[in-house]
Amino acid sequence: MAGANVIGVDLGGTKILAGVIDDDGNVHQTIEQPTPTTSQAALLDGLEQAVRELLTSEIAAVGFGVPARIDRHTGVALGAVNIPLSDLRFRDELANRLQLPVGAENDASVAALAEFRLGAGRGSTDLILLTLGTGVGGGLVIDGKLFRGWAELGHIVIVEDGEPCQGSCSGRGHLESYCSGLAADRLARRVLGPDATARDLVVQSHPALEEIGRHLGTAVGSLINIFDPQVVVIGGGFGIAAGELLLAPARSMILREALDPAGQQVRLALAELGTEAGLIGAGLVAFEALEGS
Ligand SMILES: [Zn+2]
Repeated sequence: MAGANVIGVDLGGTKILAGVIDDDGNVHQTIEQPTPTTSQAALLDGLEQAVRELLTSEIAAVGFGVPARIDRHTGVALGAVNIPLSDLRFRDELANRLQLPVGAENDASVAALAEFRLGAGRGSTDLILLTLGTGVGGGLVIDGKLFRGWAELGHIVIVEDGEPCQGSCSGRGHLESYCSGLAADRLARRVLGPDATARDLVVQSHPALEEIGRHLGTAVGSLINIFDPQVVVIGGGFGIAAGELLLAPARSMILREALDPAGQQVRLALAELGTEAGLIGAGLVAFEALEGS
């Protein structure tokens, strides 16, 4: 529908970012609220409230990027590591509350779609995106199409019997245990003291960030060996803030771990759409829901 506007909602582990998006992917007014994490009911109320603050008669559809495992066949949100969401027909529930066409995909998948179409992946056919935020999210575009399976790339094992993973994940040594913003907070406390956070490491360009970058590169090297992407995009609040402090050590690990010639050819880049990638991607999913309605 030409000229229509939609609302995109990027649901994160700590905040809800919602915005009005036009059909060129431009973001207009946005609002930000803390994510209610006390219960699933509170979370759904918070999402509905965020949308209603932006809702006008010009809004044709709403799209959500959700940090949860969504069954691509049924649309059921099966579970989430860092927010209270399980076994819920998420898309139907929000469509019912809002009485509008609703689309919902994994949050990192929608960010991958946005970077592929409008950001660092423009002109490519195969892209991997990792978001380093509260957790580590993953999204894949293969042969020009968004992969709609779980793509829980944050929960691949990079250290056998390693650090316990976070939230509701029972695993050990997962990428998320080492490269999320929360993992960086833990590292900051270890090297700088009990009140330090990931932000302090970034502000000081602290050499400890190299440790995180090497873990990131180890994971990316393995992913390259499976998917052979042209571009690997790093996004998320922590990922973008730390930027080249992570990417430089990651590149040296990629050269070691990825098979020739992928390690030399792959482009490792920061999300061009910045922390709005998830929001814009949620808008793209809203337009898809509108077309399908
Ligand atoms: Zn995990």
